[in-house]
Amino acid sequence: MVVWTVDRDLRFTASSGGGLEHLGLRGDEVKGRTLAEYFGSDDPDFLPIAMHRRAAAGETVRFDFTWQDRHFEVHLEPLQARGENGGGGVAGVIGLAVDVTDRRRMEQALRESEERYRALFEQSKDAIYITSRDGRVLEMNPAGLELFGYDIEQMRSLDVHALYVDPVDRRRFQRAIEERGWVQDFETQLRTRGEELIDALLTTTVRSGPDGEVLGYQGIIRDVTDRKRFEEQLRRRALHDPLTELPNRLLFDDRIATAVARARRESRPMAVLFVDLDRFKVVNDGLGHAAGDRVLLEVGRRIRSALRREDTVARFGGDEFTVLLEELGSRQEAIDVVERLLEALDRPFRVAGQEFRLSASVGVAIGPVPDAGPGELVRRADVAMYRAKEQGGTAYHVFDPDTDLEQTRRFEREGELRRALEKDELTLFYQPIVSLPSGRIVGVEPLARWLHPGRGLVMPTEFIPLAEETGLIVPLGHRLLERACADLRAWDAAVERRLSLHVNLSSPQLDEPGLLPALADVLEEAEIDADRLHFEVTERLAMERPERIEGLKSLGVRVSVDDFGTGYSSLSYLKRLRADSLKIDRSFVHGLAQDPRDDAIVRTILTLGETLELTVIAEGVETEAQLERLRELGCELAQGFYFARPVPAAELLELWRRDPSW
Ligand code: C2E
Ligand code: CA
Ligand code: CA
Repeated sequence: MVVWTVDRDLRFTASSGGGLEHLGLRGDEVKGRTLAEYFGSDDPDFLPIAMHRRAAAGETVRFDFTWQDRHFEVHLEPLQARGENGGGGVAGVIGLAVDVTDRRRMEQALRESEERYRALFEQSKDAIYITSRDGRVLEMNPAGLELFGYDIEQMRSLDVHALYVDPVDRRRFQRAIEERGWVQDFETQLRTRGEELIDALLTTTVRSGPDGEVLGYQGIIRDVTDRKRFEEQLRRRALHDPLTELPNRLLFDDRIATAVARARRESRPMAVLFVDLDRFKVVNDGLGHAAGDRVLLEVGRRIRSALRREDTVARFGGDEFTVLLEELGSRQEAIDVVERLLEALDRPFRVAGQEFRLSASVGVAIGPVPDAGPGELVRRADVAMYRAKEQGGTAYHVFDPDTDLEQTRRFEREGELRRALEKDELTLFYQPIVSLPSGRIVGVEPLARWLHPGRGLVMPTEFIPLAEETGLIVPLGHRLLERACADLRAWDAAVERRLSLHVNLSSPQLDEPGLLPALADVLEEAEIDADRLHFEVTERLAMERPERIEGLKSLGVRVSVDDFGTGYSSLSYLKRLRADSLKIDRSFVHGLAQDPRDDAIVRTILTLGETLELTVIAEGVETEAQLERLRELGCELAQGFYFARPVPAAELLELWRRDPSW
């Protein structure tokens, strides 16, 4: 603040205060100078001079004035002359200037920032509000008013709590803000004036006074209704079959899990049904996919109609539907539903101008199963469905742990084997076959091995029978044959001498109509002469499928009777059979040179081979004594741990290169 006085002629008489030097107003500088001199202006209308003149005329004046880049609020008062009798007129003017530059700047900044916030507030797409402590709206931006459909006056007279749909949510929200002073992205539903529901995210903070007292709240409401709806749609799509709009497998599994838990708690039975249409494929292929879709829709509807309200039907995939029956009073109730369901599906369908019937097979699994997850019920219902199918249409079977559990395990193992095949976990080991006269390796037998990621090396006795029962042996055998031929070719390229390949062939492979052309392809592809390939078939197979054996032979490959002596061969069949060799089963070789009976059997087989002009291979040779005896008896080929165990291809090649002799 600067203070000064001037006399009636507007000449400085005194000055004091802070910052005088900046203004050139120090007493010794200005004393005696006129205002006109100080401001360097003769203009009588120049604001400070004009104002001083008015003050000198007896008026109190205030004005704002900017001088040397600073802003001042200036206050002028007339100074009364002190005469003897108290009067005496005006002697001069006292002036007082406050530098308000900084304050002005602050005010300006504040105004600007407020404008910015105002703009945010006005233009935000989210609702923004300020409330009092007791939840009255004080301010709400246009977006908020539009969202809720009130004008600001109505809004102000409203208790914001009335906007909440769920009072529990409201209390949770309030508790949170009281405890922490802020809440972020609190999800709830709010109600508009038009009673519409909005999914909203609330973010709120406390407005507090200088001493920390709560003045009220301010916050943002984001309308996420559309997003929610979209998410809901996505979720629906993920959990429902698009065609029938029934729950899909994912949702069904989830429902079962809940149902199992509940059934356990209430110790009540529940059931899972597996419904499979028996002739859907025929319809789908015959009438086209559009018609097939309509049939599936209708099937879904019919199943639904046979159920009780609390039951769930799901489309499990393809023409498979699953049903969850909850809150059953008894097992019989489940059977009643199944019977209604079969009846509903047995009625004729009319689609694409055609009338036809479909039958269904239903597997029933009653739960909960002790110590088993929800997946177990579906598995059991699936197994039971296969059982029902065996009865040939419009039938059901209730899973019975005593008789069907084995089946379940088989299904699992089958699935595992199928995956192994896909993931190429099956490989081959090779066991050499030795010519006894020369003592040299002349052939190999490829033996399947499963490189199981968890169990390590799995032996064929553990998976070949299953592969045979399920028919998986066909693709598996084909794959392995291709591999064996490829290996053989690689060895051909590495070593001059030639090996023969003795490949095991199972009954489903032999029955496969495509076997011969596929074999021809493989041989051609690998460029291997057919007569190097020996197919080993069991005695029984050789007997029962003579025409298939003939077929094989017509390709030029050799045929060998495996495990000879364990079947029910008769000499007459052997005569008819055009086999090239016999493999003496290792159980007979085992007792050679020890057990006179085994010795006699081996001798007989060798004589038989000689008569019928069949090469004889002894397998399972484990000791030198066995080898010596076989040599004595004139056996031509032998195989067994005594020579070598089955080994991976690379090791076989090493052995083959070394060309050991026994
Ligand atoms: P197999 O055709 O009789 O094969 C000979 C089996 O005897 C092999 O068992 C072999 O490891 C074993 N072995 C060889 N020498 C000796 C020995 O000195 N002592 C004893 N105790 N055993 C010996 P592996 O590899 O476990 O194969 C078992 C069976 O699985 C085979 O019997 C064959 O029937 C079947 N198999 C293996 N691989 C395949 C395949 O790729 N396709 C088909 N269809 N069947 C296969
Ligand atoms: Ca064999
Ligand atoms: Ca054998």
